[in-house]
Amino acid sequence: MSPSRRDFIKIVVAGSVAAGCPVDKALLPIPEGKPVGAKVEGEQFSICHQVREGHSFAKPDATRKVDIAIIGGGVAGLSAAYFFRGKDWLLLEKDEHFGGNAYQEEYEGQAFSTGSAYDFRNSYCDQLAKEIGLHLLPIDMPDPTIDNGVYTPDTWGSGLLNLPYSKATVASFKKFTEDILKMDARKNMTELDSKPFTDITGAYAPEITKWWDAYGPSNWGAFTADTTAFIGVVDAQYLIRGEDNTRVILPGGLGCVTHKLVEVMKPKYGERMLAGATVVSVVPDKDFVRVTYVHEEKVITVAAKVALLCTPKFVTARIVAGLPNEQKQAMQRMRYAPVPMINMIFDRPIYRKGYDNWCPGNSFTDFIVADWTIRNQPGYKPKYEVLTFYSTLRESERSLLLGEDDCKAFAGKVLKEFQGLLPEFNLDPIEIRLYRRGHAMMMAVPGQYTKNRMIASRPMDRIFFGNSDSGGPESLSTEAVRISNAAAEWAELVLAGKPGAAELAQKALSAVTFF
Ligand SMILES: Cc1cc2nc3c(=O)[nH]c(=O)nc-3n(C[C@H](O)[C@H](O)[C@H](O)COP(=O)(O)OP(=O)(O)OC[C@H]3O[C@@H](n4cnc5c(N)ncnc54)[C@H](O)[C@@H]3O)c2cc1C
Repeated sequence: MSPSRRDFIKIVVAGSVAAGCPVDKALLPIPEGKPVGAKVEGEQFSICHQVREGHSFAKPDATRKVDIAIIGGGVAGLSAAYFFRGKDWLLLEKDEHFGGNAYQEEYEGQAFSTGSAYDFRNSYCDQLAKEIGLHLLPIDMPDPTIDNGVYTPDTWGSGLLNLPYSKATVASFKKFTEDILKMDARKNMTELDSKPFTDITGAYAPEITKWWDAYGPSNWGAFTADTTAFIGVVDAQYLIRGEDNTRVILPGGLGCVTHKLVEVMKPKYGERMLAGATVVSVVPDKDFVRVTYVHEEKVITVAAKVALLCTPKFVTARIVAGLPNEQKQAMQRMRYAPVPMINMIFDRPIYRKGYDNWCPGNSFTDFIVADWTIRNQPGYKPKYEVLTFYSTLRESERSLLLGEDDCKAFAGKVLKEFQGLLPEFNLDPIEIRLYRRGHAMMMAVPGQYTKNRMIASRPMDRIFFGNSDSGGPESLSTEAVRISNAAAEWAELVLAGKPGAAELAQKALSAVTFF
């Protein structure tokens, strides 16, 4: 596609590269000897660096007391707030909207995802969805692959022998599935989690690593060489055994759940849910945790009896005071992949052959049909078709997201590659939406699940460390909900002065829930 043709397609860029960083428009360094300032500027990386270097920030006296402060309004923070219904809580979210990585947008009433895609029947998240009146629908379709100009349905099942590769490569795929199924991932969890997945895939045809270089970044933020062999083996077994038939979702991806949580809670608890409130410091002392945040250009401190940090650990490490050194280092070791999410809106049907379509070897990894689970409902006649493209970048490419023009050029590249996949894809969308997140997805790297996470997520006396990155082995919304559920029980014990809170947290963190 020529650049001029691309110019006719409206490309909307949203989100922020520094979105996960507590400095965007909020961290207010106090120059020595100067009074507390409350002027909020745009993103400033020089301030970011000052935070890293331990600059001190405005911490006015507390003007409000609450039992529970919840910091971060993604799936974890919103579900925690839901579990704390009837209690005295305050939820602080830095963005102007709630949802975090599970946030839906709409085009003329048609919802689509800007991140988290699907859930699993009866997971913690699915159970919560049911409780708030959302019935997630089955995906009912194993994933196809589109490569070498060929669409192959049911990649890891009936499609395996039809993949568009040489006979030797197809035989290698077959051997890979046979060998993987022989592995006992649970028994060998620690050993598998200590090495990269390429230690396994490297023994087979390169097309296998190429395939996982699409699936891995999309599902757990890491290319095969950076992926822990543990999650690689677990997910390969899950696909080969056809267990992906438990997947469920509605349009909007898991953003439909955060959207509904907000809808359900806002009328009753709106005053407790502050968007546009960036927490800059969390300081525990004997009786309270002092949480300082910037909201509507004011610096405010709330004194909470307990605090639940639902922010990703690279943020948490920067804002919580008094972290043991080993724990802070564990938080800082965690890695997060940059993800531009691209939604293409077509004004006519373009593709209805598969829900999640793997396209190895491109600058996007897969694309999803946004309304897949409702497409056959009686009377459903969508005006538009929305395809959601996942395109995780390498960490070294994060800066691509800084400039709008670079983002637009990237979206154009994704469109061009998509149009080249199959002849029927040679249509232009009427609009492209690109939602950028600089530190979107915790990367499932070796050691993170069995070792690093356990150190990073240990609670302090009055602080619980939630967020899906306290769980695993990959970043999952259901883990965010599960951990928040445990946080609610933990908080009850701490608030009541009862023993056992630390043990309860430890049990929840170490539970292996995905087999
Ligand atoms: C592209 C992509 C695809 C995914 N696909 C799936 C999937 O198919 N299925 C699945 O289960 N999971 C998926 N995930 C993972 C899932 O989205 C996450 O596990 C989940 O959304 C994390 O929720 P959370 O609340 O733990 O964290 P987050 O979503 O990271 O929420 C943290 C919140 O804290 C806020 N915050 C940060 N700093 C501050 C501060 N200083 N003060 C106040 N607020 C702050 C952030 O703005 C954010 O809203 C995907 C993730 C991505 C990025």
